[in-house]
Amino acid sequence: MRLIIAANRAPYHIRKRDGQAKVERSPGGLVTALDPVMKKTKGIWVCSGTLQFEKHGLETPYDIEQIKLTPKENIHYYEGFCNRQIWPLFHYFLAKYKLEERDWEFYKQVNQKFANQIAEIVKKDDKIWIQDYHLMLVPQMLRELGVKNKIGFFLHIPFPNIENFRVIPRRKEILEGLMHCDVVGFHTESYKKHFLECVEHYLNDANIQDQSTIEYKDTKVKAISLPISIDFNMFDKTARSSRVIEKAFELRNTINTKVIGLGVDRLDYTKGIVEKLEGIEFFLDNNPEYIGKFTFIQIAVPTRINILEYKKMKKELDETVGRINGKFARDGWNPISYIYNSVNLKDLVAYYYCSDFILISALRDGLNLVAKEYVASRVNNDGMLILSEFTGAAEEFNTGYSVNPYDVRSISESIYRAFNNNEEEKEKVMKKLRDQVRENNIFKWVDDFLGEL
Ligand code: UDP
Repeated sequence: MRLIIAANRAPYHIRKRDGQAKVERSPGGLVTALDPVMKKTKGIWVCSGTLQFEKHGLETPYDIEQIKLTPKENIHYYEGFCNRQIWPLFHYFLAKYKLEERDWEFYKQVNQKFANQIAEIVKKDDKIWIQDYHLMLVPQMLRELGVKNKIGFFLHIPFPNIENFRVIPRRKEILEGLMHCDVVGFHTESYKKHFLECVEHYLNDANIQDQSTIEYKDTKVKAISLPISIDFNMFDKTARSSRVIEKAFELRNTINTKVIGLGVDRLDYTKGIVEKLEGIEFFLDNNPEYIGKFTFIQIAVPTRINILEYKKMKKELDETVGRINGKFARDGWNPISYIYNSVNLKDLVAYYYCSDFILISALRDGLNLVAKEYVASRVNNDGMLILSEFTGAAEEFNTGYSVNPYDVRSISESIYRAFNNNEEEKEKVMKKLRDQVRENNIFKWVDDFLGEL
């Protein structure tokens, strides 16, 4: 079986360093998750882009078919419909939703380009797996082009409740687009439930059985909940490597405070980074005995840097870090160490390995892979995962420490717990989390999804 993946973004990009071009894996949860599987099945990845791998004499680990988008398509499909409509709405940021009628035409146009490209390369026994909210119309378009192969779709962001979903004028077309899949997957039962409620409400001909199978006209779609995961063993192994352990010790020596907290997020408003820093400020205001005792390292990975909203966010973050550090700094110590860049895998694992706790404060997150990567990197069953209630991972994990990121007091209390909780209890929790991620790893996720397909 050959796998055709359709996703908006290319899994690899070209990085020029010291005058030399190199192939590098792109950041983000989706690529990290699917990469091992694509290498194994020699699949084809269909995405948007114009990267010239061949021109630079570079090879990618598997075939990548790129669809060239026009500048207008970029503006209205990607920045517009995907990032100013679907993204905020599906993450419950109604105030950031901006309806621009023209966006829809371009969304349809780009989805059609993807469908045409897939229809051209697909072979009889291939399975087609479409990823995420950028391509929700592709299943229907493929059927209209006569493609009979199995089609799966996975949504990597939350599926919102009907009160949010109903805001999109084209809500019915979106649901109809997905009705031509064999399997539609979500991270959690809640997202699946919201989807089924919307289908029931907006598609008159839909008949839902057993809270999972939808019969709609002459199609039959199975909705499943299956939280995505990570390559547990790879993180575990990386965390045991001497380079990572050395780097972790080096970091601890440089930072030189008793406790290290960590945050790793794309710089997106859904991640609640500023809220997290305000929680740290509240903690230090109310527990001054901890001033100078801990350092919080915040890694903020740049994304969508051309969108104004994201530029403003960067400014707000810079100012917040500056303000809090200015308020508490003394004798060469700053409470927040802030990195605005992406870090390579080994360094990332060293950060995971050297920190006493990770604080994930997403205001809404489809799943949050960083949570799982942190757990997989804690090879000594120590450390502490503090996880926002509003992440898919929190719904999946039935153990651990949760936080309400909207509430500075809740963030502050969670940091207090990181200092004061009993080590034995922390170890018990971490061990349980590790068992859970070890078992429900990315390979199982892919097997389970393809098994359903
Ligand atoms: N990540 C990365 N570069 C970095 C820091 C993190 O590629 O500098 C990866 C991280 O390992 C994780 C992903 O980005 O796999 C983030 O996934 P998550 O589900 O937490 O959030 P997303 O960014 O997909 O919303």
